[in-house]
Amino acid sequence: MTLQRRSLALDWERLLRVAILSAADNPVLRKAVSRFGMRLGAGRFVAGETLDEFVAVALDLNRRGLKVAAGLLGEGTKQATDALRAAAEYEDVLTRISGERLQATIALKLTHLGLGIDEELSYRNVETLSRRAASVGNFVRIDMEESRFVDATFDTYTRLRSAGHDSVGTVLQAYLYRSAADLRGLIPMKPNLRIVKGAYLEPASRAYPKKSDVDRNYARLMEVSLTEGGFTAIATHDADLIDRALDLIRRKSVGADAYEFQMLYGVSPQLQATLVAQGHPLRIAVPFGTQWYAYLMRRLAERPANLLFFLRALWPS
Ligand SMILES: Cc1cc2nc3c(=O)[nH]c(=O)nc-3n(C[C@H](O)[C@H](O)[C@H](O)COP(=O)(O)OP(=O)(O)OC[C@H]3O[C@@H](n4cnc5c(N)ncnc54)[C@H](O)[C@@H]3O)c2cc1C
Repeated sequence: MTLQRRSLALDWERLLRVAILSAADNPVLRKAVSRFGMRLGAGRFVAGETLDEFVAVALDLNRRGLKVAAGLLGEGTKQATDALRAAAEYEDVLTRISGERLQATIALKLTHLGLGIDEELSYRNVETLSRRAASVGNFVRIDMEESRFVDATFDTYTRLRSAGHDSVGTVLQAYLYRSAADLRGLIPMKPNLRIVKGAYLEPASRAYPKKSDVDRNYARLMEVSLTEGGFTAIATHDADLIDRALDLIRRKSVGADAYEFQMLYGVSPQLQATLVAQGHPLRIAVPFGTQWYAYLMRRLAERPANLLFFLRALWPS
């Protein structure tokens, strides 16, 4: 592809991404997709709606040498009772992971646990889960959401670590200008960080609008985290960045206990298989639950070509 055609394709992709993420809040679209989405192929990205369905997928991945991060879907909780229910459901997930002896940690969103209602409520919920996770030898990853929650998420993470909860990690988004400074601030506590590009709609005042800048920032953050940080989860399907990570790990002799690769369920299965066959640690984020709409829209926005996959399902065969 010539440079001009490539940059045109990238412009179109960026436009479609913004269009999909902007449309995601539309109640009519939400209703229609929520009604038919599972039948149209949401199951490609979501393990199912129940804990049993999650366990079946996790067992299969473990058998194939992949570790798992369990994500109970839900975000933007509006009622305190729902936030408490989400925390209780996560406790059930931890119990089930132990019972089934799964190679699986949990990943959660603070707004699911009540951050949008009261920061203290979500803190108490995640602290309870961190204690419970540690008691069964497990680990809690705090996902990163829209930029308006980033301060509260890092505050929660540092507060948990200061209170002695070490089986906890969080996420750094490469599209945010602030992330390099955030990483520097966290390094003294040897953080456990998952590095991602970033999946939300953010203004140019906070996030790099151009993909090439995001990729460059990702590479920089990854290098600092792998060489000066604690544990780094390299969460991307970008083959160039994965090659760079592998090169760094080799050159700087990064220990096998200091990093892992992470990918999303249903994305780049061939790349997943290749990494595992080469003996690299790989964890798959496996979401499940009934509230899969927002998650699905982010997956469609990341790769607008996924829309074709959905539209094809509409076509009578
Ligand atoms: C384990 C994990 C956890 C994450 N947690 C968070 C989080 O807490 N907060 C957050 O903001 N974001 C999170 N993300 C999402 C992340 O920010 C990106 O939106 C997503 O990973 C796509 O970026 P990429 O690094 O794969 O690179 P891209 O450049 O977007 O993609 C590289 C290639 O991967 C493939 N690909 C990527 N996405 C898709 C897709 N949806 N469908 C099909 N193919 C695809 C395509 O082949 C594409 O060319 C997470 C991602 C992963 C892997």
